[in-house]
Amino acid sequence: SLFVAPDCESFVRRGSLYPDVYDYTRCANPTTDVLEAKIAALERAEAARCFGSGMAAVSAAILSCVNAGDHVVAVEAAYGPTRLFLTDYVARFDVSVTFVEGTDTQEFVDALRPNTRLIYLETPSSMVFGLQDIEAVVSVAKERDIATTLDNSWASPYFQNPREMGVDLVLHSATKYLGGHSDIVAGVVAGSKERIAKLSASEGQLLGAVLDPFASWLMIRGLRTLAIRMERHQQSALRVAEYLEGHPRVAHVFYPGLDSHPQRKLACKQMRGASGLLSFSLKDAGQAEAFAIVNRLRYFGIGVSWGGFESLAIPVTLPSSPPGAPHGVQGRGTMWGARLHIGLETADDLLGDLERALH
Ligand code: PLP
Repeated sequence: SLFVAPDCESFVRRGSLYPDVYDYTRCANPTTDVLEAKIAALERAEAARCFGSGMAAVSAAILSCVNAGDHVVAVEAAYGPTRLFLTDYVARFDVSVTFVEGTDTQEFVDALRPNTRLIYLETPSSMVFGLQDIEAVVSVAKERDIATTLDNSWASPYFQNPREMGVDLVLHSATKYLGGHSDIVAGVVAGSKERIAKLSASEGQLLGAVLDPFASWLMIRGLRTLAIRMERHQQSALRVAEYLEGHPRVAHVFYPGLDSHPQRKLACKQMRGASGLLSFSLKDAGQAEAFAIVNRLRYFGIGVSWGGFESLAIPVTLPSSPPGAPHGVQGRGTMWGARLHIGLETADDLLGDLERALH
């Protein structure tokens, strides 16, 4: 937590001596510094700041971009607590929000107001996996001097680098793929040196939800296998998605890695691959059937979160067609199904498990 100085002269100058002299861990820590340098490099950003959870990173990134009276345009399908932060929490400071589906960039343009200061993206989103055209939205924002933030948790920096497409702040729930072992809760924001220094000094130091150095050490260890984990998640998830797509009980598979995904072209343009989280809806099924199928799975734990080594499943309701589907094939209402995280187990075991449960 703290670092001692060799003498009083260094102690009074300690802020100016950083990074040769460390002071106090809420401000900076050598282990966390190593981690932040690694994540900045992975995200092709100049700098990064780690937080004690993904939500701490989300809230710090948003707060660093808005002032009282500002307006935010955000993606409708963003992570639930992120939406709540935007609708309920920042409303106390007179910050308002408009949500858009976001598959068509024009929706962002139409939602802008003279006081819009931030566009908040999450692409792909983590339940229905709709994509936003990053370069197109960034160009709309830059023309008007509006900041952009993007939750990149699903793709991880292994498959997508929004900073290279001009996004100002890229953030993660590092609890997911960056950690990768379901043993830490963490978040990260990456961006320019200037933005990250400002965010560290205000939201980092004053709200104080920075990452504990022991968790930083665990994440450094986790990052060493990021590449092979992501390759394996992708390989197995694609097999599962293709299997589900051909199953007679399945209505739709929501997975940007599939050739049939309505936004596949955009997925290939802005991502190098697809991760392990997907969902599927069931034909003519209600809650009871969805629960029964998930209950029968033996190798999938029933639990939230994702991005770790293990396969997980939860029953969910989904729209009757994937985001970005042409208007002619868009359905109404919701359907029961499941969200799956495809972990690092043998894919044949997972496919066998799904086959048994669906049968
Ligand atoms: N963003 C996404 C897409 C998430 O799925 C989550 C958590 O599930 C978060 C952010 C928040 O992260 P954390 O739970 O680490 O606070």
